Amino acid sequence: MKIKVVIDEKSGVCGGVSRAIRMIEDKMNSVGTDNIYVNGELLHNRLEMERLMDCGLKVEEDVQKIKEGIIFVRTHGVAKKILENAVQNDNEVIDATCPKVSKSQNIIEEYFNKDYQIIIVGKENHPEVQGLLGFCNYEGICVMKESDINRIDLKKRSLIIAQTTVATSLFERFINMISEKIKDLEIAMTICPFVEKREEELIQFAKEYSVIIFIGGKNSSNTKVMFEKLSQYNVRSYLIENRNEIDYSWFRENDVVGISGSASTPIWQIKEIKNVIVEYFKNK
Ligand code: SF4
Repeated sequence: MKIKVVIDEKSGVCGGVSRAIRMIEDKMNSVGTDNIYVNGELLHNRLEMERLMDCGLKVEEDVQKIKEGIIFVRTHGVAKKILENAVQNDNEVIDATCPKVSKSQNIIEEYFNKDYQIIIVGKENHPEVQGLLGFCNYEGICVMKESDINRIDLKKRSLIIAQTTVATSLFERFINMISEKIKDLEIAMTICPFVEKREEELIQFAKEYSVIIFIGGKNSSNTKVMFEKLSQYNVRSYLIENRNEIDYSWFRENDVVGISGSASTPIWQIKEIKNVIVEYFKNK
């Protein structure tokens, strides 16, 4: 069967993730891998995490258990208090929080200290949001659906801010709904520009190919947002995490297949999937 497979040339990990991976690899190369930890998944990509762990990186969410280690703070960030606890055990703490997430943390802390109610558009159990809540004494209100607005004190002056990877349209919807109810509302635009730009690029990419294979961690928020978006523009879009999930009945004669991935999908995974598909159809 004749098919063509094309990689999205704009795919690959975002700046924040590539910075964190680079920081860890540099440290491993300079001091060895005996006691290098990260406080949870550095990124939501199982295969890349496995690769780093094969190189020696250890994952330990409870940093109080680590003694005399080197602890990298994951790209999603972490509450300030947890960092303070980590330093107490003679650990070296290296902050690999994405600078865009650090910016959100600083804004939240500043407004919380000025006695603003903090409203976060994002998933409460997402690591980035858990970290953000740690900058307002866990008193922020997380909203993801309309009924969540009922938990907001409409009499308080408030700051509304977004998890960096939520869809812009969702954030705008909440701004519109809440600004009608709260007079004194400050808005912090913290959606990652990389994510916003990728949305547009992926829509364009989805329109250009017969089939889309999108690679990303099933536990990655960014993967879900991106995949939902592109599948609106190409009904033959499929989300996979690894090569074992490819179903070859997805493809038809003369298809031009586009392969792309989320902000946490390294380019080596995208190339691997392309090779697997090309190999499969070589002699069919
Ligand atoms: S998606 Fe944006 S905010 Fe999230 S880690 Fe990447 S660069 Fe940072």
